[in-house]
Amino acid sequence: MANRIVIDEELCKGCGLCAVACPHDLIEMSIKLNKHGFLPAVISADAMLRCTGCTFCAQVCPDVAIEVYREKKA
Ligand code: SF4
Ligand code: SF4
Repeated sequence: MANRIVIDEELCKGCGLCAVACPHDLIEMSIKLNKHGFLPAVISADAMLRCTGCTFCAQVCPDVAIEVYREKKA
């Protein structure tokens, strides 16, 4: 399984810190409000393919809205 992140869009407050923290600029802000009225962070399937699993995005998130799953090496 490749590296991937899961963003809980309903926990996200749209601060954008994760988007700034990603060294590969993979995270964007949605144009669709979540149920709390924030524009949450999102990542496209194409961008996900380039995720290195560095965890920077998850580390900076003040709302613990991101989980990172790292590729298992054989
Ligand atoms: S784990 Fe690293 S490379 Fe992947 S989206 Fe988060 S900051 Fe970007
Ligand atoms: S750092 Fe967390 S709360 Fe802020 S935009 Fe990213 S996922 Fe949302």
